[in-house]
Amino acid sequence: MNTLFLKKPSRRKFLRDFSLGTAAVATGLGFAEYARSQPASGNPPKKLGIALLGLGRYATGELGPALKQTNLCQLTGVVSGHPEKAARWAKEFNLPDKNLYNYDNFDSIANNPDIDIVYVVTPPVLHPEFVIRAAKAGKHVISEKPMATSVADCQAMIDACKKAGVKFSIGYRMHFDPYAKELMRLQRDGDFGSFMKMNGAFSFVMGRHEWRIEKKLGGGGPMMDLGIYIVQGACMAAGQTPVAVTAHEEPKQRPDFFKEVEETIDFHLEFPDGAVCDAVTSFNQSAANFRADGAKGWIEFQNSAFGYQVGDVVTSRGPLDYPRPYQQALQMDDFADCILSNRQTPVPGEMGLRDMKIVTAVYEAAATGKRVMV
Ligand code: NAD
Repeated sequence: MNTLFLKKPSRRKFLRDFSLGTAAVATGLGFAEYARSQPASGNPPKKLGIALLGLGRYATGELGPALKQTNLCQLTGVVSGHPEKAARWAKEFNLPDKNLYNYDNFDSIANNPDIDIVYVVTPPVLHPEFVIRAAKAGKHVISEKPMATSVADCQAMIDACKKAGVKFSIGYRMHFDPYAKELMRLQRDGDFGSFMKMNGAFSFVMGRHEWRIEKKLGGGGPMMDLGIYIVQGACMAAGQTPVAVTAHEEPKQRPDFFKEVEETIDFHLEFPDGAVCDAVTSFNQSAANFRADGAKGWIEFQNSAFGYQVGDVVTSRGPLDYPRPYQQALQMDDFADCILSNRQTPVPGEMGLRDMKIVTAVYEAAATGKRVMV
């Protein structure tokens, strides 16, 4: 039977079945490797400790719940500017007071052996400061996307982590999603030939004011927040980095709301082998799709293309039906495994830097109307 067409279990069933055996598969470890990571006593290995920094919607809605499903890491601390939030998390996750930090005393996390990893989940402009402080405290670091809001900041974050000798990854959860992994496999194995033509859209209608439309916190608008997913998809499908971009910012329908950032931007990526990707991202439209065409076939993510649970995915061979696991649990377990087995993460800071170079080129192309080399 072709494993591509496995029956889709519910998320609850997936979590129920998430036992030791499936954990080995899900973490990307072979069974032998995973078994080797178990102590001879048969007791479960000590999980690495993660502190979430910034307890907003993503931390609360996704990362906290995911950390109840991880096998190689667990929540052991939080960093928050709001003591009442930290207290709520402490109660839910049974965290001792000594593992609750604020942004002022956070550097003393260096002396806390319960915490191995700091996961930065604040608005993007703040990622560099906290990643660099975490690295200086000797902790491994995960930064949410976009990694930062400038190429220089991305480089400074990478340099700080290298200097401190800690591992650094970006919260690119899609890399652990079975459908996105199939896209990358198709690229590698060439089932459909090289993907030469890609297109994608990622947009939602923003209802109320938030940091995503404040340049001083988000660094930009939908291109920073959502367009980066299409950039990621295009690089997965092409297996390369674009060399040039053109872009066009659409006139604003709600200029009073989108005062500081773009509302909608169209962009076109050109890859070294002639492959292209046409994309649109907006805070005033609704779409989430991605398609890649090769000479021998195609794959189309028809809806919720970049979602926590990917929507319908169809190929020229027929529909795909994979499990829809907890992407964030797999992502964090993979990073923990990178630390435990001293291997390179598939989503390193260098990938975040690559994407920031592309995003920066898109903004420059939109502002100047020129084709910009990446
Ligand atoms: P949010 O506004 O809900 O949370 C941000 C948190 O940062 C809040 O707890 C806030 O108190 C804290 N914070 C600290 N200093 C702040 C300051 N000066 N101004 C504003 N907030 C401050 O945002 P969110 O949606 O949780 O996004 C946080 C990060 O996670 C962003 O980088 C975002 O791009 C990323 N994110 C990633 C995904 C994903 O799928 N990977 C999904 C959503 C958000």
